[in-house]
Amino acid sequence: MKKYITLFSLLFWVSIAFAQNPAITPQNPFGLEIINSMDAYKEAIANNPNNELVDLKKFIPSIVLDVRYATKNNFMKQVMYKQARAFARKPVAESLKRIQAELAKHGYGIKVFDGYRPYTITRAFYDKASDKNFVANPAKGSKHNRGCAVDITLIYLDTKKELAMPTPYDSFEAAASPGYNNLAPEIIKNRDFLIDIMHKHGFRVINNEWWHFDFVGWQNYTLMDVPFEKL
Ligand SMILES: [Zn+2]
Repeated sequence: MKKYITLFSLLFWVSIAFAQNPAITPQNPFGLEIINSMDAYKEAIANNPNNELVDLKKFIPSIVLDVRYATKNNFMKQVMYKQARAFARKPVAESLKRIQAELAKHGYGIKVFDGYRPYTITRAFYDKASDKNFVANPAKGSKHNRGCAVDITLIYLDTKKELAMPTPYDSFEAAASPGYNNLAPEIIKNRDFLIDIMHKHGFRVINNEWWHFDFVGWQNYTLMDVPFEKL
């Protein structure tokens, strides 16, 4: 009996020590599980190959990248990414590849503004944004942080010019909502074509950004905070 009491008191003191030691408590003030090292990321891939963050331009060479956060041409007016690259988890990238093939039959293609976004960047966005409805709350993290969201539009394959859409990318206007219809018929047609093809291949548009699509099943992927240059 004494042995058990000793064991219990040991467990009690160990749990107190864990609770008080900041090195053992979660990696951020919100208590979220975040993969923030290459070792942890590689382990996640070993456990499930779908966890791989795929370089979209290498995987789908015909897509066009316009990574605004690697320039000052974004709502932050600051360079947020050191490299103009876009990544998404393997099944997300595979879906985008199928979409790109289907779009080609219509003479269209995908332009990617953003994909996987390290968690540190989401925190910086939230601190700076004037309208918090347009940025993810760092207490929850973003689907972008999970490698399961993409910001995209459609281009003509031959000219690489964008199709007319309701607003520019990252606009905070009411017209950015996919349900906003006080627009020219051609613009509604283009926007709805994009949304329909994305939905058909496993994505869902969000309610205030016509360009942002979450991948169905995003809950299965952990938040990540590994910078592009390490991937
Ligand atoms: Zn987005």
